[in-house]
Amino acid sequence: MGTSLASPARLDCLSGRTPTIATLCSHSSLQIFHAARLEGFPTLGIASGSPPRFYDAFPLARPDRFLTVPTIKDLPAVQDRLRDAGVIIIPHGSFVEYLGAQEFNRLDVPVFGNRAVIEWESDRRKSREWLESAGCPMPKRYEDASEVDGPVILKYYGAKGGKGYFLAKNRAALADFHPTGPYVIQEYVLGTRYYMHFFYSPISDRGYRVGTGSLELLGMDRRDEANIDELYKLGAQEELLQAGIRPTFVVTGNVPVVLRESLLPEAFDLAARVVERSIELFGGMVGPFCVEGIMTEELEFKVFEISSRIVAGTNLFISGSPYADLIEPGLSTGRRIAQEIHRARAAGRLDEVLS
Ligand code: AMP
Repeated sequence: MGTSLASPARLDCLSGRTPTIATLCSHSSLQIFHAARLEGFPTLGIASGSPPRFYDAFPLARPDRFLTVPTIKDLPAVQDRLRDAGVIIIPHGSFVEYLGAQEFNRLDVPVFGNRAVIEWESDRRKSREWLESAGCPMPKRYEDASEVDGPVILKYYGAKGGKGYFLAKNRAALADFHPTGPYVIQEYVLGTRYYMHFFYSPISDRGYRVGTGSLELLGMDRRDEANIDELYKLGAQEELLQAGIRPTFVVTGNVPVVLRESLLPEAFDLAARVVERSIELFGGMVGPFCVEGIMTEELEFKVFEISSRIVAGTNLFISGSPYADLIEPGLSTGRRIAQEIHRARAAGRLDEVLS
């Protein structure tokens, strides 16, 4: 048996009924609603203002019902309605970012996955402690600007979509950085980026065994980031700066990638260590997570971030991926989440996958 993450009181509202799958209308909601419907769950879209119109264009992914709040920050005020509706919330990056990590954690509504992970993931120092102690190679971190001895990237906390990040070729260039929140200074790693979509099930007893369950790889993407991805076409940085153009990392979309097959064993090893360490540190990370890093020319994968929930790159694989198809044809991360809820319910183990 895995760790129990939810008290019986938290799961009271689900007893004796089919749960409704709910998420915030953004990010990967089309995939989540579509998949929940395929697995036979009713769906509820949480929207601020009025229900977004774009669902009308995607009938198979339109939630059955909407719950609207003036702003997402007002969600805690309607949590009784969510409980009454027998809802399981599927967290995604925008959900946690818009509501706030602490507010999300305090919601008294069943949430898919272990909400304790948010505290470890949203603070870059804590996530580093987790990943380093799991044995992940990571970009060098500078405690102070005076230590900088090469190109660096300055990054804010949380999933800000790369907004406001700053690239400095050397220490002198740091003078131009004017922070607007807590940030870290990291070595700028040269290589190829991979965002690997894993899924950890604490209740599965087949496949690639880790902890009490198993680890799956469902897909992989690379993010399109404006304007850094195309900046090279404009030439040297000094000239760009003179022209008032600064590199930014705002995510605008995703492209599918696969990893050299010979690198897959290391990818699994690394992800397994991250899961095992999460079990020791906070009772385990459950469900989808993404290991994000850069493969250097020495074929060392340096992890710069972990996202411990469904990432938007999985939207590429609504009808399967080169990896997921080898588990079950057409399997998406959203579908895998819905399956996990089904299987945990059937086994009376919902408390191990919800919190
Ligand atoms: P993050 O918020 O950590 O996901 O970073 C946003 C983007 O910045 C990533 O998708 C990468 O393109 C880039 N990035 C982050 N950390 C590094 C690093 N240490 N070296 C090079 N690029 C990075």
